[in-house]
Amino acid sequence: MACHTPAPMRTLLAIHAHPDDESSKGAATVAHYAAAGVHCVLVTATGGEAGDILNPALDRPEVKERLTELRREELHEAARIIGFAEVVELGYRDSGMPDTEANRHPDALANASSDEVLGRLVGLVRALRPQVVLGYDDHERYPHPDHLAVHRLSLELFDAAADGARYPEAGAPWAVSRLFAPVFTVRRIRTLHDAAIDRGLESPFERWIDSLDGATDDGKVLVAVDVADTLETGRDALRAHRTQIDPNGFWFRLPTEVVADVYPYEDFELLRTRTPLPAGAHDLFAGL
Ligand SMILES: [Zn+2]
Repeated sequence: MACHTPAPMRTLLAIHAHPDDESSKGAATVAHYAAAGVHCVLVTATGGEAGDILNPALDRPEVKERLTELRREELHEAARIIGFAEVVELGYRDSGMPDTEANRHPDALANASSDEVLGRLVGLVRALRPQVVLGYDDHERYPHPDHLAVHRLSLELFDAAADGARYPEAGAPWAVSRLFAPVFTVRRIRTLHDAAIDRGLESPFERWIDSLDGATDDGKVLVAVDVADTLETGRDALRAHRTQIDPNGFWFRLPTEVVADVYPYEDFELLRTRTPLPAGAHDLFAGL
C-alpha cells in the first residue's frame, strides 16, 4: 500500500464587523465548507452596540436594555448553526452609522489604532494558517465605518501576515492563498427580483432594482459557490439574530425553494490571490 501524507487541514477565516454580518454575508457558504470538514473560524470586530432593534416584535425597553448581551448570545448561536469551530471577538465597540454620536466613543473600532487591530489579525492568521480569508469589498451600498474598516484591514492583512518584517512578535509569516469578499452581484439581484415578479411575489429588491439600471458585474472576478444544501442553514443563522432580523422582512421574502430553484449560489469577489483561480471555479479552495 502506498504511503501518503494526509492533506493539510483546510482552514477558512471569516472577518466580520458586527454580530449578524456572519449570517447575512456568506453564511450558507461557510456552512457548506464546515459540513465538508473545513476548519472555519469567525472573527467579529465589534459587539454591535450601536445597532437598533430591527425586529418589531422585540422592540421593547427591556430588550433594548440588554441589547449588547443579547447580540452576543445571538452571535454565538448563529455561529454554532453555521458550523464555525471558533468565534474570536475582537471586543471593539460598534462605531455606528456615519455622523452619529457612536463614532466618537473611545472604544469604537473607528478610533482604535489600525496598527493594533491589524497586528491582532496578523497574529490570528499566523496561528490559524487559513488558505482562504473572507473580508469585505468597498461597500458602496452600505458605507458603515466598521464595514469600511474590515475592507481596508482585510486587504492589509493579506500582505502583512506574509511579511516576516511586519509584526515579527506575532508569529511566523503565513501567506494566505486567497482573499474573497461575499457580494450581492447584479446578476443575483436581477435573477431573484425577476423570479419574484414572475411568481407574483413581492420582490425584496424593489428599492434597489432601479439603481441597477445599466449596472453589470464586469471587471470583477467572481466565484459562485453552490449552496443549495445549506441555504436553509444560512436562514436559520439569520433567524438566531432575533433582535436584528425581522422574520417577515427582507431576508425571508423569497421562499427558500424559489432561491434554490433560480439562484442556489452565494457570490464571492476575488480581491487578492497568490494561486491562480481555475477558470469557471465554483470553489473558493479550487486548485489549492
Ligand atoms: Zn454590520
